[in-house]
Amino acid sequence: MKPKGFVRRTRQREAILEVLRGTKSHPTADWVYQEVRKEMPHVSLGTIYRNLRTLSEHGEIRELAYGSNHSRFDANPHSHYHFVCDSCGAIEDLEMPTFQELNDKVEKLGDYQVLNHRLEFYGICPDCVREKSDRRVN
Ligand SMILES: [Zn+2]
Ligand SMILES: [Zn+2]
Repeated sequence: MKPKGFVRRTRQREAILEVLRGTKSHPTADWVYQEVRKEMPHVSLGTIYRNLRTLSEHGEIRELAYGSNHSRFDANPHSHYHFVCDSCGAIEDLEMPTFQELNDKVEKLGDYQVLNHRLEFYGICPDCVREKSDRRVN
């Protein structure tokens, strides 16, 4: 079980949370680092990684791991689904209810204790669909 609840607020953590909450792009640690550095020029990438990990361990943010690729970070810790664009790599939140009953179904398969589930849809995002059809017209 991941520890939840109180996490000590430091200036660095506040800055990281502010940067994450200010974007819907589900950025990489490196992007967060570049943004936080504008406010705190002496912060290190290691510090950013450490704080992102602590924040996600405490359920304040979510880390979205993609195999061997870099993790992306999400300021919204609540259960929600994503659309991942195969064309531009964008990760967008989907405004739809999540299917919590799936957790019960998995628990009924055996001695599983489901804490949450992650569901992602892959394809072409609206921006890229639009771009493709624009190109066809020209
Ligand atoms: Zn796209
Ligand atoms: Zn999200």
